[in-house]
Amino acid sequence: MSKTILVLGGGTGGIVTAKELSKKIGSKAKILVFEKEEKNVFAPSLLWLMVGKRKPKQVYKNTREIAGSGIEVILGEIEKVNPEEKSVFVDGKEYKGDYMVVSLGVEQVTEHNLNEYGHDFYTLEGATKFNEQLQNFQGGKIAVLVSALPFKCPAAPYEAAMLIKDFIRKKGLSSKTEISLYAPEPGPMGVAGIELSGAVRQIVESKGISYYPEHQVSSVDENTLSFTNGKTFDYDLLTFTPKHQCPSVIRKTALIGKSGWIEVNRNSMETDFPNVYAIGDITFIPLEMGKPLPKAGVFAHYQAETVAHNIAQEITGKSPDKTFNGDGQCFLELGKGKAGYAGGNFYGSPLPEVKMKKPSFIWHWMKVWFEKYWFFKYF
Ligand SMILES: Cc1cc2nc3c(=O)[nH]c(=O)nc-3n(C[C@H](O)[C@H](O)[C@H](O)COP(=O)(O)OP(=O)(O)OC[C@H]3O[C@@H](n4cnc5c(N)ncnc54)[C@H](O)[C@@H]3O)c2cc1C
Repeated sequence: MSKTILVLGGGTGGIVTAKELSKKIGSKAKILVFEKEEKNVFAPSLLWLMVGKRKPKQVYKNTREIAGSGIEVILGEIEKVNPEEKSVFVDGKEYKGDYMVVSLGVEQVTEHNLNEYGHDFYTLEGATKFNEQLQNFQGGKIAVLVSALPFKCPAAPYEAAMLIKDFIRKKGLSSKTEISLYAPEPGPMGVAGIELSGAVRQIVESKGISYYPEHQVSSVDENTLSFTNGKTFDYDLLTFTPKHQCPSVIRKTALIGKSGWIEVNRNSMETDFPNVYAIGDITFIPLEMGKPLPKAGVFAHYQAETVAHNIAQEITGKSPDKTFNGDGQCFLELGKGKAGYAGGNFYGSPLPEVKMKKPSFIWHWMKVWFEKYWFFKYF
């Protein structure tokens, strides 16, 4: 009898899971993808959108276009998840499966009334509105704020600051503009090691961006940011990362671990419930160095390939033989058409083995190529 696989979330992990399953067993299985957003945004492009290098319409596709061989898209908000039964409820209707893959990402919430004074660059709406403000900016103080830890894509706020810097330079406003980046973490991309973190910090500061690590925002008003260390800074234009938390629909289930996220077998992505997997940003995977695996699309992507392969193997009577081994890479936009590249093995013992390659135009174009490839391959 044909098997049903429920894929919760049609973002990076959900799309790759569904498409891999479709490729392998699309004719033998029913793959149901549950997604609440009709506009399916490719998140890395939000950084280009915020500085006017993309129009809003260029950074998303319609979620319905994911449908394909064996894949059905159910557009709507999942109201309840039952891991024991491998079932979900959408619009009061229950859907049951033989397998369940949870890829619901993070829930983004805004604290300290940040929305009143600035725009986030982690949503389509926020990045679009920030860009409108930036286009009219005539000089002054720009604040890029990481409002809380953890946040997805450890490089993104640093890339945002450098892309804004480039925008300001091209507009001829450099002499009238100060750009500052405030973050609660001790340094950029700390999980990748002291050396890499230091190199990224050096690049950011060499561009004239003032960097304030270990600054946790405590309150905001119209022109001032206040931090828990007692310091205050003025700003004229503000952009920020929202606070990330586990989606509430999962917080109400027994899938939630002590970390506040879903804890999984780090190689198979299995949860404590049989045939229920979790991948991507919603998971918590502790590393030997003491920090968790960062939340990034590249990991969601490889984890999805692993889970889809193993489910397909089981359904076709073979043994599940693929493991996620902690490999990951990222491109770091630096402005002036260049990007850096960092990659390696994050499960390295005792420390992740991650190296950075020399900044180059090539890495920037690789990032652009991946954006095109993503939309072409999956929609
Ligand atoms: C500005 C920015 C730049 C980034 N750049 C990079 C990069 O260069 N490289 C990289 O590796 N990563 C990058 N990332 C991170 C990357 O986008 C995420 O890590 C990745 O998307 C995680 O995949 P996921 O499947 O876990 O979650 P998501 O892709 O967020 O998908 C989760 C999906 O679940 C849906 N959902 C949630 N709750 C419900 C519900 N109740 N009912 C129905 N649907 C629901 C959401 O709408 C969403 O579509 C970036 C992120 C941002 C914001």
